[in-house]
Amino acid sequence: MKTDELLSRWQRVKRHIEQIALTYQRKPEAIQLLAVSKFHPVDAIATLAQAGQIAFGENYVQELFDKANVLKETEIDWHFIGPLQSNKCKEVAITATMMHSLDRIKLVEPLARFRPAHLPPLKVLLQVNIDDETSKSGVHGFDELLILAKAVLAQERLELCGLMTIPAPRCNLAEQCLPFAHLRMLRDKLEQSLDIALPELSMGMSADLEAAIAEGATIVRVGTDIFGSRPVK
Ligand SMILES: *Cc1c(COP(=O)(O)O)cnc(C)c1O
Repeated sequence: MKTDELLSRWQRVKRHIEQIALTYQRKPEAIQLLAVSKFHPVDAIATLAQAGQIAFGENYVQELFDKANVLKETEIDWHFIGPLQSNKCKEVAITATMMHSLDRIKLVEPLARFRPAHLPPLKVLLQVNIDDETSKSGVHGFDELLILAKAVLAQERLELCGLMTIPAPRCNLAEQCLPFAHLRMLRDKLEQSLDIALPELSMGMSADLEAAIAEGATIVRVGTDIFGSRPVK
């Protein structure tokens, strides 16, 4: 994609987020745009970074690691949003600012252990399988969520910030709102049970942005609307 087109698509997504925020009486600056750059080239990332986009999301550890190395002189906050194998925790711990997809106890200790001492604690979101789909990762239900949250809170090198979800596709706004409202309710319940603040809700992608913002998303993860359709790997 040409630089001009990429920049204008990015601007359009940002304006769209602002407009939706205002429609739902929310402050636009309370919603962070995470540019999901998986499968897209480093020069597209560099172009947007130069224009002021700081947060980029990647799904694959090797791709995250390679891109972060190429762009190490550029000011970027990398977010890991994909499924993680426990033997790949180190790469995420040394590269990412935020891990959105923590979904099991086994990842907690290695992520904390490999977080370099010169970096602030790794920000962590717990992924919830909100529609109980077998094809998706994430914890099921409040009890599992509470156990995982406590394990993260026990680690000084991790900072528990909130929840993330990827709902099953739905075809209208009212339907799309339901799983996001459910995630917010789980977050509120977790805050009460643990007596802590969990400000972040990572929810909403290109296809369900409005519903997510309406229900309180603080981070929206947008790929296709910014970069165009993904090249096949
Ligand atoms: C790919 C991906 C996105 C971006 O999806 P688009 O439909 O391209 O906006 C967001 N979140 C996660 C977890 C993804 O894997």
